Amino acid sequence: MTKILPLVVPTKANFEPKQFDFDNPIQDPIELADQLWENMKHYKGVGLSANQIGIDAKVFVMGMGEGKDEFRLNVFNPMIMAISDEMSEYTEGCLTYPGLFMKVKRPKTCTVQYYNEKGEDQKFTFDALTSRVWLHEYDHMVGRDFTSRVSKMVFDRAIKKRDKLIKKMVREGKLQPPPKSV
Ligand SMILES: [Zn+2]
Repeated sequence: MTKILPLVVPTKANFEPKQFDFDNPIQDPIELADQLWENMKHYKGVGLSANQIGIDAKVFVMGMGEGKDEFRLNVFNPMIMAISDEMSEYTEGCLTYPGLFMKVKRPKTCTVQYYNEKGEDQKFTFDALTSRVWLHEYDHMVGRDFTSRVSKMVFDRAIKKRDKLIKKMVREGKLQPPPKSV
């Protein structure tokens, strides 16, 4: 049975997790990857890092689809080998910041190294959306997130837009008023 864990607040998600030790694992790596995948789907994301749900390990999953259309990566102890000079801009969201969407500039392609859930060495070059999601999740692995990838002006605007959206949803009865402090 997969345990759905609560998403932790940004101040608790933003830490650099420990390397996953395949010789002395905190949890079976296959089970951990499955748990992250189920949590990611539960929260309707396309990527989820372990530290976003309070697990102290350099592990994330990403992907989409189901059955034969499923695309999924289980990423342990990731490293970036190279990034392209060419950048692209795209609107991103993050499960740690519900309702917050911002245009973020990132390298168009990345060449990466990591281990899969079986501890096998993986090396790939990703582009487009795969590269973007991989780099977004990688940020979580080093204790940062997409809010540090935009200017203060872009961030402030996005927060205002999010707060307007929350107020509208509360008015329409689609959302309970948020607690005063988190
Ligand atoms: Zn995120």
